[in-house]
Amino acid sequence: MLISIIIPVYNEGKHIEENIIAIRDRAKCENVIFEFVLVDDGSSDDSFAAMQRVSERLQVSRLIRLSRNFGKESAVAAGLTEAVGEACIVMDSDLQHPPELICEMVRLWREEGYEVVDAVKADRGRESRLYKLFARLFYGAFNRMSGLELQGASDFKLMDRKAVDAWKCMNEHATFFRGMSTWVGFRRISIPFEVAERAGGSTKWSFRKLAALAIGAITSFSALPLQLVTVAGLLFMAGAVILGIETLVMWILGHAASGFTTVILLLLIIGSLLMISLGIIGTYIAKIYDEVKKRPRYVIAQHLRSVHKEISE
Ligand code: UDP
Ligand code: MG
Repeated sequence: MLISIIIPVYNEGKHIEENIIAIRDRAKCENVIFEFVLVDDGSSDDSFAAMQRVSERLQVSRLIRLSRNFGKESAVAAGLTEAVGEACIVMDSDLQHPPELICEMVRLWREEGYEVVDAVKADRGRESRLYKLFARLFYGAFNRMSGLELQGASDFKLMDRKAVDAWKCMNEHATFFRGMSTWVGFRRISIPFEVAERAGGSTKWSFRKLAALAIGAITSFSALPLQLVTVAGLLFMAGAVILGIETLVMWILGHAASGFTTVILLLLIIGSLLMISLGIIGTYIAKIYDEVKKRPRYVIAQHLRSVHKEISE
C-alpha cells in the first residue's frame, strides 16, 4: 500500500536531511510504503541539493522544485496534485508535526474507515499571546462567516484518495488547504497533538503573510463582509430617518436645528464607512481579478522521481 507524505520545504537546507530521515524513522507502519513528495518552494539556499541527497535514502520519493517562492499553500497544492498514493498526508518539514502520529492516522483510515484524519493542535505551543489572540479571532470570524469549524486546525492531515480527488476538483487559484480540506466533507476524525519545538531554522511566516492568508481565506469562503456593507448602510439610513423626523418635529414646534459639529462628525463617520465599504468591495474585486486570469497556481521547474528497492540504512 502506497501512501504519499507531502512536505513543503522553503529554505530549510541546514536541517532538512535530518528532519526527513527522522520522519522516515519515526513513522514505520506495517504494510505501508511511503512515497515522500518533497516540494521545494523556490528556496534560495541549498535545500534542493539536500533534498536530492536525502531522496537516495528513501524508498520512494518525488522531488518537485517550483520555479520561485509561491508560498506554502501553493507548494502543498503542487504536492497534492502530483502525489499518487492511496492516501496523502500533508505535514511540515520542521518536525512540529509529530511523525509518531502517522501510523495512528493510517490505522484510523485503513481499519476504521475514516476518509480524512485531522490532527488538531491541543495547545498552540510556544506562540506568543498576541499570535494566539489573532489566531482565535481569525478562526472565530472564519467559523461565523463560512460555517466551517477550524479552531485549532493545522495542515497536518491524512486524506483518502477520494478526498484528494474532490480537492483537485476545486479550481480556485488561491488555495486555502485547511478550509478546502474541511469543505470537501467525508467521514472525518480529529486527533489532538502537541506542537513540538521547531527543529532548526525559524518560522517563515511574517505578520504580513499571515494577514494576507487570513484575508484571502475569508474572502474565498464567504461573501458575508459584502453583506455587512449593506447592513451598515441600512443602519445609517434608519439613523437618518429618525434624525430627520426629529428635526422636522422640532422645526414645527419652532426650534430651528443647530449643531455644526454634528454635521462634521456625521460627515466623517459616513465618509470612513464609505471608504471601508469600498475597500471590502475592492478586496473582492481583486479576488475576482485574480481568479479570472486563470494563471497556474505554481510553475514546476524540475520534477524527479526515484524508487529505490533497498533502503540504504
Ligand atoms: N513553507 C513553504 N513556503 C513558504 C513558507 C513555508 O513551503 O513560503 C514551508 C516550510 O518549509 C515548512 C512549512 O511550510 O515546512 C511550515 O512553515 P513554518 O514552520 O515556517 O510555519 P509555522 O510552523 O511557523 O506555522
Ligand atoms: Mg513550523
